[in-house]
Amino acid sequence: MEEKKRVLIVEDEKSIVDIVRFNLEKEGYAVLTAYDGEAGLSAARENKPDLILLDVMLPKRNGFDVCRILREEGDNVPVIILTAREGESDKVLGLEIGADDYITKPFSMRELLARVKANIRRTAMLQAEAEEPAAVITAGDLTINPGNYQVSKHGSPVDLTQREYELLVFLAGHPGRVYSRTDLMEQVWNYDYVGDDVRTVDVTVRRLREKIEDDPASPALILTKRGVGYYFAAQ
Ligand code: CA
Repeated sequence: MEEKKRVLIVEDEKSIVDIVRFNLEKEGYAVLTAYDGEAGLSAARENKPDLILLDVMLPKRNGFDVCRILREEGDNVPVIILTAREGESDKVLGLEIGADDYITKPFSMRELLARVKANIRRTAMLQAEAEEPAAVITAGDLTINPGNYQVSKHGSPVDLTQREYELLVFLAGHPGRVYSRTDLMEQVWNYDYVGDDVRTVDVTVRRLREKIEDDPASPALILTKRGVGYYFAAQ
C-alpha cells in the first residue's frame, strides 16, 4: 500500500484545525498539527511533511517568518498560506517569500482539498522530471538547465522560487504559444478546479520578469498577449 502523504497544519484556531484535519484524514492524508509558529517550524524540520498549510497570524512567529526560514534552510516543501485578509498584500508577500499558494479564509473545503492535492501531485511530478531531465533551453542570454534547476542570465545564476522556475520552464518549452491565466493555473499550478483567482499568475509573471528581463517594464522574453494571456518569445 502506498504510504500516506503527510500534511502539517499550522494554525492557532482550533476549530479550523479540527475541520481541516477531519477532511484531510477522510481523503487519506496523515495529519500533523501545530498551534503556533515556533511549533510549526519545529514540526516541519523534524517530520518533513509533504505539504504545509500555514496560517499567517500565529502566536510566537507569524506564518511569513516560518515560510521564509524554511526556504532559507533549503526546504522546498509545498506551502499553502492561509490568509484571513482579502487584500492583495498578503498574497503578494506570501508568493514573494516562496509560498506556493494561498487560500483566503473563509475557504471552501473543496477548494482546500483541490489545492492540497494539486500541490502534492506537482511535487511528485517534479521529482520524476528531475530523474529524467529535459534538454537545456537557451533564449538570448538566458539559459535554463532542467537537469539541475539552474537558470542563468549573462552566465550569472538567477535565483527563482520553485513556482517561478516551473512557469518559466513551461512557457519557454512552448515558445510562441499563448496561454491564458486559467490555462497556466491548470498546466503549471496543476489545478483541476480554477476559481476566480488567477491573479497568482500575474504576480508570478511580474516577479519572474523582474528577475530575467533586461527591462521588466518592456519584457523581451515573457510577453503579454493583451486580453488573452502570456507567451514566451519565439527565438
Ligand atoms: Ca491565526
